Amino acid sequence: MKILGIETSCDDTAAAVVDSNGRVLSNLLSSQEAFHRDFGGIVPEIASRKHAELIGYVILEALTLAHITLQDIDLIAVTNGPGLEGSLLVGVEAGKALSFALERPLIGINHLEGHIYSLFLEGSPLYNAKAYFPLLILIVSGGHTELILMEDHLKYRMIGRTRDDAAGEAIDKFARFLGYGYPGGPVIEKIGQSGNPDFVKFPGLSFKGSPYEFSFSGIKTAGIYYLEGHSDLVSTHLADIAASYEKAIINILIERTLKAASDFNVSGIGVVGGVSANKRLKEMLMAESKIPVYFPQKPYSTDNAAMIALCGSKHYKMGEMDNLLIDVYSRLEIQSAPVKK
Ligand code: AMP
Ligand code: MG
Repeated sequence: MKILGIETSCDDTAAAVVDSNGRVLSNLLSSQEAFHRDFGGIVPEIASRKHAELIGYVILEALTLAHITLQDIDLIAVTNGPGLEGSLLVGVEAGKALSFALERPLIGINHLEGHIYSLFLEGSPLYNAKAYFPLLILIVSGGHTELILMEDHLKYRMIGRTRDDAAGEAIDKFARFLGYGYPGGPVIEKIGQSGNPDFVKFPGLSFKGSPYEFSFSGIKTAGIYYLEGHSDLVSTHLADIAASYEKAIINILIERTLKAASDFNVSGIGVVGGVSANKRLKEMLMAESKIPVYFPQKPYSTDNAAMIALCGSKHYKMGEMDNLLIDVYSRLEIQSAPVKK
């Protein structure tokens, strides 16, 4: 089976062709970063207009790179939430039009669940693997920080999430305060590379309650107060401050993830979403974990359509399908697939 994946939940226009095993025939992404950078965040109106402009070309190019034509497509999988509604609509309408014209099945995919499937694409140790469950999944992105127990393909249990800001958002705000545009993560990582991560002691988590929940608003405020109150050090020790802030956020992620991994006795940990590209997070988690830790291959850590296509094929195999009434949702929970009768 050849699955066309379409992903337009945020600021990247993406299309990919993947087979039902997770072999990637093409994976194309047109980044809108340059159009949003000056605004310090994503402007929804600009994002949806750019998607509308680019989506047709991106899909055609993905087919060309895969050396196939529209007629060769067996299934269309499109992200329909969570994300910016105006952005999601462009991808979903493109998917509907193709489904209608080609008479091929259409399936709507949860963007976050799609990220989980970035771990099962070609090039990953989990590609086509069978015996890796249960896995603990840390979704860590610009808008989400969640721990999910993946008991099998398409079978999930939410364990904990952030009470306030996402980890990526805390890094983005810090970068923005320093005058850098969106996304802040790669900039802070680069600046902090040569820095001493123990230069500033930022606070960890202190709230009572679930040991699997996160909170990043405290550290975000502490980071910004620190920058405001130490303008002298910001000019002389920026690398040390950036490294310390990044490490403090990573410490929170690692502490909660390892606790959940141990309590739920999982056989491995998967880390997905934009922040999974962070080198310090990868190195520290791999060093501290006693069980295998999996990260997506670099092209699949950021938003992409290959993960959406593979996730779509898994759902389709379970007999799920959508129709032309499919809608978009700014908020959407990851749900386990219904048990096949
Ligand atoms: P996503 O929400 O999955 O599209 O990912 C975007 C988020 O990932 C933003 O908050 C980025 O700042 C963050 N991000 C991307 N690359 C890195 C990195 N190398 N280190 C830390 N955060 C990153
Ligand atoms: Mg994403």
